[in-house]
Amino acid sequence: MTSIQIPDNSTSSAAPARADLLGLTFLELVGWLAERGQPTFRAKQLAGWIFNSLAPDFAAMRNLPATLREQLDREASIAGPAVRTEIKAKDGRTRKLLLELADGRLIETVLMLYPASGESRARATVCVSTQAGCAYGCTFCATGQMGFDRHLTAGEIVAQVLHFARELRTQPWVAPDGETIDRVSNLVFMGMGEPFHNYDNTLKAVRILNMPEGLNIGARHMTISTVGLVPGILRLAEEPLQVNLAISLHAPNDAMRLRTMPVTRKYPIAQVLDACREYAGRTNRQVTFEYVLLAGVNDAPEHARELAALLVPLRQLCHVNLIPVNKTAANYAVPTGEAIRAFRETLRAGGVSNSVRAERGDDIAAACGQLSTHERRKQSADSLDV
Ligand code: SF4
Repeated sequence: MTSIQIPDNSTSSAAPARADLLGLTFLELVGWLAERGQPTFRAKQLAGWIFNSLAPDFAAMRNLPATLREQLDREASIAGPAVRTEIKAKDGRTRKLLLELADGRLIETVLMLYPASGESRARATVCVSTQAGCAYGCTFCATGQMGFDRHLTAGEIVAQVLHFARELRTQPWVAPDGETIDRVSNLVFMGMGEPFHNYDNTLKAVRILNMPEGLNIGARHMTISTVGLVPGILRLAEEPLQVNLAISLHAPNDAMRLRTMPVTRKYPIAQVLDACREYAGRTNRQVTFEYVLLAGVNDAPEHARELAALLVPLRQLCHVNLIPVNKTAANYAVPTGEAIRAFRETLRAGGVSNSVRAERGDDIAAACGQLSTHERRKQSADSLDV
């Protein structure tokens, strides 16, 4: 058997002292065990314990020889980041985690539980972070105000999903229609960080979460959201994975977009839309455009008309997701119901399909970066107190 090199993420991330098995594809796991003299079927057993039985540690893996369990304990880890805080929204449908990575950095992960609606069944969606902090500085985003710390490893991304998979197994959610939800069904890569800035680790995590020996979450149930990094969009178009693509657009022209999204200087809207056309042409998949509605900034009917005109070339292959800004966002006001309705109507009249995403968990500050910003401020206040 050929020995498989386990990628070393230490140039962009803190190197774990023990091998993080959550960051290995099944083939890599087979290779890692083969280097320790173990046959392929041990990899199947181990992956089954990690992703199917959702074992919290190696001690629980009863059909592995005791000597192997001891070796795994010494040389490997499946623990993932430590939970610093977990809070639940009053309605119980949004749960947010503040996780502490091995190097002390903080990231956030959110579980959102949705009842059945129309044709779609009840679902459990995890919103995953791909970086600690973010380099892109969008003004409406708490993470953007922190600056960039580092990329997450594939294992650190997978661990966020695994946490909620374990939690749902032990504390299933009973949806209003009586359906019991005991597994993670959907993923959105929309937490802290820009996924395409950390392309390799993000796509590796997608493969691990999608693999039959992993959590086996369908690629069609995963959405990667980007501020429009053109090389990432073009790379994703070449992947043999049916992952959904979402673009954070938030403005109908470059001048306006630049005020909230500095990335526009590097990738103007026209370039992003060209890349989306290429992506849609190659994959035949629809692109979702996310548009945060900021009262008095980008929510007027003329903005909707401009947006509809912009999307004409993609009309059959795009959808606009309107997101009224989170109440807790600094410096921005929530648009009125009337403004949202008028915006939707104008888009529809322009031939662009659209929907409004209900914001989740205002009472637990669910928008990305808010909890860790709060924690950082608390830490600096504590350090000033001593
Ligand atoms: S919205 Fe996304 S890309 Fe922009 S600063 Fe926040 S995390 Fe970064």
